[in-house]
Amino acid sequence: MRVLLMGPPGAGKGTQAAIVADKLGIPHISTGDIFRSNVSRGTALGVEARHYMDAGEYVPDEITNAMVRDRIAEPDAATGFLLDGYPRTTAQVGELDEMLAAHGWQVDRVLELTVDTDEVVARLLARAVDQGRSDDSEKVIRRRLELYADETAPLTASYAARGVLVQVDGMGEVAQVTERLLHALGG
Ligand code: AMP
Repeated sequence: MRVLLMGPPGAGKGTQAAIVADKLGIPHISTGDIFRSNVSRGTALGVEARHYMDAGEYVPDEITNAMVRDRIAEPDAATGFLLDGYPRTTAQVGELDEMLAAHGWQVDRVLELTVDTDEVVARLLARAVDQGRSDDSEKVIRRRLELYADETAPLTASYAARGVLVQVDGMGEVAQVTERLLHALGG
């Protein structure tokens, strides 16, 4: 099963993706986590990506696409995966379709977490304190939300048109939201 998890920054995507992927027995592939890992290891990719991440901007498509193409070709992704934080642009949607088709795969389900914007800002500010993420200052948070609304939220329409989109209420307890997501996946 190839599943995408979408939703604005602070919707709880990372937390839910890890739990749901674990329950499904498939890898959780988070482009944000891969970028952060490269930043902390000081790789060339990390050095390049950091500049964009710290400003709340998207890392350029060529860099992001190549990274995802390599990751989904790893053996552990052969039986399925849950992609968290990708695709985020129209170009990435097209690239993902091509990458999947090359393996004879397709997007089976897209889960969109819906949340209250004020709640999201509060969650992100709390996370900034907890995790010390350099992209969680208020100005950057606002930019990330704006970018999501402008560039990423509209992508759900194309998945809705394919009949694979399910919107899931992201408000409430973590366990409750997990239940809803698993239910949306037919579990
Ligand atoms: P996330 O942890 O998913 O919120 O991602 C953190 C940051 O990594 C984002 O604000 C972007 O700078 C970068 N990033 C993650 N995924 C993508 C993507 N699909 N396209 C471009 N940039 C991304």
